[in-house]
Amino acid sequence: MSYDVIVIGAGPAGYVAAIRCAQLGLKTVCVDAWQDRDGSPVPGGTCLNAGCIPSKALLESSEFYENIHRSGRHHGITVTRAVLDVPAMMQRKDEIVRDLTTGIAALFKANGVEWIAGHGQLQPDCHVQVTPHAGEATVIKAAQVILATGSAPVGIDAAPLQDDIIVDSSGALEWQSVPAHVGIIGAGVIGLELGSVWRRLGAEVTLLEAQDVFLAMVDQQIARTALRLFKQQGLNIHLDALVKSTQVVDGSVVLDYQDRNGKHPLKVDRLIVAVGRRPCTDGLASEEAELLLDEGGFIHVDADCRTSLPGVYAIGDAVRGPMLAHKGSEEGMAVAERIAGQSAEVNYDAIASVIYTQPEIAWVGKTEEALRGSGTAFNSGLFPFAASGRARAMQETDGMVKVLSDAATDRVLGVHIIGAHASELIAQAVIAMEFGSSSEDIARTVFAHPTLSEALHEAAMDVGGRAIHIAKARRT
Ligand code: FAD
Ligand code: NAD
Repeated sequence: MSYDVIVIGAGPAGYVAAIRCAQLGLKTVCVDAWQDRDGSPVPGGTCLNAGCIPSKALLESSEFYENIHRSGRHHGITVTRAVLDVPAMMQRKDEIVRDLTTGIAALFKANGVEWIAGHGQLQPDCHVQVTPHAGEATVIKAAQVILATGSAPVGIDAAPLQDDIIVDSSGALEWQSVPAHVGIIGAGVIGLELGSVWRRLGAEVTLLEAQDVFLAMVDQQIARTALRLFKQQGLNIHLDALVKSTQVVDGSVVLDYQDRNGKHPLKVDRLIVAVGRRPCTDGLASEEAELLLDEGGFIHVDADCRTSLPGVYAIGDAVRGPMLAHKGSEEGMAVAERIAGQSAEVNYDAIASVIYTQPEIAWVGKTEEALRGSGTAFNSGLFPFAASGRARAMQETDGMVKVLSDAATDRVLGVHIIGAHASELIAQAVIAMEFGSSSEDIARTVFAHPTLSEALHEAAMDVGGRAIHIAKARRT
């Protein structure tokens, strides 16, 4: 069979690319290898099946459960008995995933995208060998190929996965009861989100992080606040801690970890390995195809997602840049438009990151550390949620908004938020940066009262030293 475009991978990068190609009149097929628990093919990739969506469903349910106990009393509401039903919680998560993946299959159909379940391998001259889950391999060809094969969890020798006892992020989204003590190797995004889920549901949670810096990619003023708040919530976070060995004994995990004070034993009921993800590129291209990979197995691409091969593009987690669903989707749309002869660009400087803890952490642009490192002169404005009327009404006073702007031009270079609904608030900063706003532009914009968004307004005003609702001495 011959197509205009073959997309390999139906995660948020690949399925969005395929739909956009079809919208632009290109005859498009999407080849994807994902199978659900009972072996049925499902589109959506990691994001829908084992990532963004199931983790957010459980974060939402577990926060709801905790709020019944934690926040109720502040509002004058006492709940004497809330009963946790973990299998029902898991079923709700599975239904959300099923609805959304069914939706993608429907979108494929509505847009005329052909969907083939199976493993795709790139061959020379834009040919792709498709090996179905059962049956003979076939070869299809196209004028252009988009590689969107995503990523998979990294494993470590000291903690090989075992049944539902030592698991990766996918396994930790499936437990049907609350373990008494959950250990997590890696206090990164996944470790903190899944650690939050199981802590809120009643588990003791211990995170062992190899680095001596907490959340090194986050603005360190925000990271320090986060570490303090997470520890207050009861997350046991050990930095500079390297797991040396693990052993499953009588259904529990006995491990040893090393920190600057020496070796320590730890016994946990379940262990999550969350030490990062690697691109899925093993066997993706035949040797004859000569696809160039970067260090770490990422597909080599230029700024426009062109690989080393004519007519072959690559997008999403399988290429450089942050491993985020929205980054992959934007690349997918941009590549489809380039193939259709349009000009399209992804602004990599304005891609927001979010950690969906409580409070949430969200940021876009440069951190204070990065600006200092590059010798960029900047001004900074800060506003704590404790001074926000809406945050007080919500009993959500932890955290702050921080705005960094260029000292010479006042152009916004970074916005960093820790606080309730930071994942939603950050979109305002993304739009401001996309439009090249100055901090004064935000400061002179009228924000509705009382809203959490006013904290962004005040932080921008604080850059110019004119925040109204905070005394200079209290800005810490
Ligand atoms: P994937 O989603 O990994 O999809 C790739 C697809 O390609 C898969 O279906 C795979 O089976 C298929 N495939 C691979 N090789 C082949 C082959 N040779 N032939 C055919 N098919 C193949 N990101 C966010 O932005 N927000 C979040 O809240 C968030 N939460 C996350 C939570 C967890 C627990 C995890 C693990 C990840 C999370 N992420 C989040 C990251 C996000 O899931 C990824 O960035 C995103 O899924 C990448 O999209 P992708 O399309 O590049 O790859
Ligand atoms: P991560 O890079 O965020 O965190 C991994 C952590 O493990 C790091 O802090 C690292 O120092 C630590 N580590 C590495 N090796 C270790 C070892 N041997 N012992 C102890 N600690 C070790 O990676 P992740 O949490 O696995 O997430 C993978 C990717 O998925 C991330 O890049 C992230 O962008 C994406 N993701 C995004 C979201 C979101 O957007 N909310 C949620 C989940 C995952």
